[in-house]
Amino acid sequence: MPDIIQLLPDNIANQIAAGEVIQRPASAVKELLENAVDAGATEIKLIVNDAGKALIQVIDNGKGMSETDARMSFERHATSKIKNIDDLFHIKTMGFRGEALASIAAVSQVELKTKKADESVGSYIEIDNSVVKKQEPVAMEKGTSIAMKNLFFNVPARRNFLKSNASELRHIMDEFIRVAMAFPDIFFSLNSNGQEVFHLESGSLKQRIVQILGNNYNAKMVSVQEKTDYMNIYGFVGKPETAKKTRGDQYFFVNNRFIKSAYLNHAVMGAFQEMIAKDSFPMYALFIDLDPSQVDINVHPTKQEIKFEDEKIVYAFVQSAVKHSLAQFSITPTLDFELDANIQSLDAINKPFTEEKKSSVASSSLYNTFSKKNQAHFIDTKSDLKHWKEFYEPAKEVTINNQQTIDHGPLTIDDRQTDIGALIQLHNTYIAAQTTEGYILIHQQNAHERILYERFADAIAGQPISTQKSLFPVTLELAAADVALMHELLIDLNDLGYHLEAFGNNTFVIQGTPADVPQGNEKQSIEKMLEQYKHFSNDLKYSKREKLLRSIAWQQSIKAGTVLSQKEMKVLVEELFACATPNTTPNGKPTYTEFKKTDLDKMFGR
Ligand code: ADP
Ligand code: MG
Repeated sequence: MPDIIQLLPDNIANQIAAGEVIQRPASAVKELLENAVDAGATEIKLIVNDAGKALIQVIDNGKGMSETDARMSFERHATSKIKNIDDLFHIKTMGFRGEALASIAAVSQVELKTKKADESVGSYIEIDNSVVKKQEPVAMEKGTSIAMKNLFFNVPARRNFLKSNASELRHIMDEFIRVAMAFPDIFFSLNSNGQEVFHLESGSLKQRIVQILGNNYNAKMVSVQEKTDYMNIYGFVGKPETAKKTRGDQYFFVNNRFIKSAYLNHAVMGAFQEMIAKDSFPMYALFIDLDPSQVDINVHPTKQEIKFEDEKIVYAFVQSAVKHSLAQFSITPTLDFELDANIQSLDAINKPFTEEKKSSVASSSLYNTFSKKNQAHFIDTKSDLKHWKEFYEPAKEVTINNQQTIDHGPLTIDDRQTDIGALIQLHNTYIAAQTTEGYILIHQQNAHERILYERFADAIAGQPISTQKSLFPVTLELAAADVALMHELLIDLNDLGYHLEAFGNNTFVIQGTPADVPQGNEKQSIEKMLEQYKHFSNDLKYSKREKLLRSIAWQQSIKAGTVLSQKEMKVLVEELFACATPNTTPNGKPTYTEFKKTDLDKMFGR
């Protein structure tokens, strides 16, 4: 029998190793950006086409490489960053494994241009499938440009596993943001398919956070800063009122490396305890610096977990630092803790009765049904009024669109009531209504979510909602990461009455809004809808459209805690029972509960 063990050829060994390091375009982006940072660049430009599937290029003005180093850099285990095992415990650079470029060269077509400051010409190298195709001198400025084309062109199985462009671009932006956030004194830009998505001038950390996460944080962050011999922490946390329903804006960095840590997250959440609703997430960007020997970063290259020598100290330190800064800026709890967490998170509850609250009441479609009588979709023209007749008998005649009149046929209603009768609002949240057999308690927000959801579903199915043109078109500036999302939603939003046009990179012009959303409130309504959409987006079981419907229904719904007039309550009740599925919200929460008179009688011994 012949011997059967062989050494794998380099390109195959590298391809296998690449599987660990380069899983998707975003992992290559991370590696290339980190190399540029390690090279001392003050300007780093990232260019991607087709979400990195066609091209990922990073151009930096760092220290560059000599001709030999340029060639060497693509060998496996080739690094200038450590020389022996001890160095591992004093790592100051982002990279150290010497695997990234070898992996990249094994799964794409690479073009490298690089020049050191003190050399007169630079080097150009072309590599395909780990094989050098071309190497020649090139005239250029100091720095390095690496372009990798057609990622996984030679590993079709992996190429097929890549997600949609929108999803891969989202990952790329996440990695870009993580590096850019950690190095505010470096200029970064990101260009995707010829469009500049980020343009981040160098500046302070605060400026960088605002550049990335959006201007609304500008006056709404407090700084965190504590120093000890053991460790330092600095950064910013969002004031409680900026807490969102999505986890998005939370960043931890240890020695400038982005990490994920449920444990440290818990520490921060503890500091915010009783200041924010339970299901909401405060913004934070916190940087922890400690002696590299106290951290084990020698974990898997693509993993972002970290091990601390003494986690308990780090936990306590982070929590007290955040508590301290929240206290310093005298941000104290102002909420009524008897309220349900859902309710607490509502602006209407968090704020005294202000102009803002008035306008948010005014933004509800119900309000508008009255203020624009006979124009709005007072009652859905849906023919299936079965539930309504069986269960709840309202007035004999109901006004619907175009002022038509519907006759509901013979009535079984309690005949003392000529109308629905007096409705009682309890705790500004529940509506009590008498029925033929007892009474029901309706949850006003849940009920309204159901009503709006069905109305919007019809809109998308071909009965577009009427739009009012903005008299003075408002511009909406989004955080760059939300721009791609907005582009995905534009068409459906159009059917729902939101007419938006892209204008420049991060800006959309609101040309029109549903007739129900009053002018002046357009922007806020779209921002909140997007926020809610992201909240749903982790839920894979729903289609994009379904998530959008639910988000808008939630956003436009009358919130618990809102005072309703008799008329408003009446319409709400009528519209609810005109729904195809009146008994639950789109998410399955009950909209009402029934109490039978016979049961009440029993309770009272009758
Ligand atoms: P590592 O970063 O772990 O050392 P890489 O494979 O990412 O490994 O890079 C290999 C080497 O190539 C680096 O150690 C560095 O010396 C050199 N290098 C890579 N990218 C750049 C760059 N943009 N500018 C200068 N040198 C670079
Ligand atoms: Mg590297």
